Amino acid sequence: MSEKTEGKNLQELLTHKWRNSWEHFNESEIKDVFETSEEYKIFLDKCKTERESADEIIKRAREEGYISVEELIEAQKQIEPGMKIYAANKNKAVALFVIGKEKIEKGMNIVGSHIDAPRIDLKQFPLYEDSELALLKTHYYGGIKKYQWVALPLALHGVLIKKNGEKVEVVIGEDENDPVFFITDLLPHLAKDQMAKKMDEGITGEGLNVLFGSIPYNDKDLSDKVKLNVLNILHEKYGMVEEDFTSAELEIVPAGKAKDVGIDRSMVGGYGQDDRACAFTALKAILSVESPNRTAVGLFVDKEEIGSVGNTGMESMFFENTVSELIALSNGSYSELTVKRALANSKVLSADTLAGFDPNYPEVLDKKNSPFIGKGITLVKYTGSRGKGGCNDANSEYLGEVRKLFNDNNIIWQMGELGKVDQGGGGTIAFILARYGMEVVDCGVPLLSVHAPYEIASKADIYMTYKGYKVFFEA
Ligand code: MN
Ligand code: MN
Repeated sequence: MSEKTEGKNLQELLTHKWRNSWEHFNESEIKDVFETSEEYKIFLDKCKTERESADEIIKRAREEGYISVEELIEAQKQIEPGMKIYAANKNKAVALFVIGKEKIEKGMNIVGSHIDAPRIDLKQFPLYEDSELALLKTHYYGGIKKYQWVALPLALHGVLIKKNGEKVEVVIGEDENDPVFFITDLLPHLAKDQMAKKMDEGITGEGLNVLFGSIPYNDKDLSDKVKLNVLNILHEKYGMVEEDFTSAELEIVPAGKAKDVGIDRSMVGGYGQDDRACAFTALKAILSVESPNRTAVGLFVDKEEIGSVGNTGMESMFFENTVSELIALSNGSYSELTVKRALANSKVLSADTLAGFDPNYPEVLDKKNSPFIGKGITLVKYTGSRGKGGCNDANSEYLGEVRKLFNDNNIIWQMGELGKVDQGGGGTIAFILARYGMEVVDCGVPLLSVHAPYEIASKADIYMTYKGYKVFFEA
């Protein structure tokens, strides 16, 4: 037995090391980690678009007894502590509330995630025929590396509103028996010019055309017979005509299910984990909250990937309007000032994913300030780019409060930064909520291959993030 030296004791006392979650879980926690990841994969498979995510969130909330704000207004019911309420925003964003014992104007504890993900949208007039092949024109959505989207199986998800106003939901490519779609790539033998281009230019945006069919309609005297045959199939299946594409939102996403990754099954690979990793964990956490002190809010928004704009993004008035409705249902205590107080007194975890340290690309990440997958829920003081530009820089006092909360509740957490200084950068919805005066800090799951068709998360981090959001709601 060697005795610890004074220096060794001092080192343990004064220096800090982030923990690897796997080394700190007990047997029953390991079981919970793997069970949670099974639920997570099912969520990812069901929620490949913002609409599907919003539907699933509302479905699960209703199963847990949540009622809509409209139903409350209709029934002229006043809100009471413990009441579970949801508000839906145009089938693309949702807010879940568990009313606290304290008045809403004292502030809410909000976990805000986004449910849109990078993808490839169909153009409004997408279908054409070239060289006796039917193809679909597209316009990508969010930050994608275009070369990653060729030569892999793709599915088509979305809605179309027909001439008569009827809404049709479309999912092709997910069932075992469904066809899938592809964007073709060039064979290496003829790719000399392509391979000499910059990676950003090797595959172009206008070149992301989806192969959709190849059998001509059986009539000799026509042109564009392959296109006609495709239209005929779509007409038989959905009763649609070509003009119906103009009022459709059809999204191309990777086909297939989320999978375990690694021989030890420690990770999950799947599409759209930015930011459904945080949406799933926030949903699981709020659905387990019963009677919090402060009103708990799970906020799930759209359009983060293109700047949080539009009436379903965080920049819209949806959340503020919903809080106004709830305050109006609090014994007639509504005033503009009460709403402002409720917002200003709120605390937020801006729940978004970020890049975990990747040994394949050490040159872009500062190893001392990068999060690592498997080392827990990640707090991010600031994001932004070129000198923190455009970011929410969380206040020290608030960071201290969240850090204490996590430490007191045995949450394994780490601190992260998005890449090396001047390497690039990005943002989240944090700065938008911060405008109200709310305390906001970015806090979520580190991923590998962020924004790729398949992203990778550690099951340990999914579990820890759920636990972290839960103690925040209950604080
Ligand atoms: Mn994100
Ligand atoms: Mn993103």
